[in-house]
Amino acid sequence: MPLHLLPQSRRRFLQTTLASGTTLLAARMVGAEKSEPSREWWALLSDTHIAADPAAIARGVNMFDNLNRVIDQVLAEPSPPAGVIINGDCAYLNGLAADYATLSKALQRLADAGLSVHMNMGNHDDRGPFYGAFEQQQPERPLVEGKHVSILESKFANVFLVDSLQHVNQVTGELGPSQLDWLTKALDAHNTKPAIVIGHHNLQFRPAESQERVSGLLDSQQFIDALHARPHVQAYVFGHTHNWSVRQTDQQLHLINLPPCAYVFNESRPNGWVRAEIGENELKLELRALDPKHVEHGQQKELQYKLAAVN
Ligand SMILES: [Zn+2]
Repeated sequence: MPLHLLPQSRRRFLQTTLASGTTLLAARMVGAEKSEPSREWWALLSDTHIAADPAAIARGVNMFDNLNRVIDQVLAEPSPPAGVIINGDCAYLNGLAADYATLSKALQRLADAGLSVHMNMGNHDDRGPFYGAFEQQQPERPLVEGKHVSILESKFANVFLVDSLQHVNQVTGELGPSQLDWLTKALDAHNTKPAIVIGHHNLQFRPAESQERVSGLLDSQQFIDALHARPHVQAYVFGHTHNWSVRQTDQQLHLINLPPCAYVFNESRPNGWVRAEIGENELKLELRALDPKHVEHGQQKELQYKLAAVN
């Protein structure tokens, strides 16, 4: 598994593991009584929008504080996640080197705790400055030239991270033919386990003659056709709209719109993160809103995999 942000201190990681050993053992014993398989979970974050200045505020939100609060919550969980994924718009607006320098300060606490962090590119990111700040995220040989993609192996599923950044600070997203070609081949080569695809942009379908501005994925149709054609693909997870929701396509593909870590575009919507258990037969999600009084805080969704993919 590619460790994108490597733990800085192995010794500290071991201390963390030892410290939480009792809790983990107790959790396993409870699970064993109920004959439940051990579950691994992932912390899913999106749209952190970290600016160079940690004091920067947008739409009434201090983005650096929000991210730190989310990190506090992830680190306070009884067991550590298998990994942390930030699904794009890591930087504020223009993907500046100084934005990523500030982001790396916040993420250092996760690395210090021995956690791996994987980041996707959003329309407010820029691959060059991003790799400049996070050297470990840059593969020696990219799987797709000019794109930041990877495959993560979890116990019961493979997670495909795709790159929908088209132009920095322009809203439209695109995967492009070479990435779609790689993705379809990679999905086919890993079809014995369920697959979950994670990218920044939402799907957007419109007639060819439409003058409507594309704020989602320009090649949504080709992308969704490729996912639907592969029954082991269970879900597409995205961010971008800053609007938490869980839906399903007419072909039982789960569409999971992560909440933003940073600001919402609609005051009534929650910001925060999602605790995701990737199980053998289902995906269990729990919304952790930053406002504990938000009506959707703690909302749980149990998303069954398609029957075709279950043994
Ligand atoms: Zn965003």
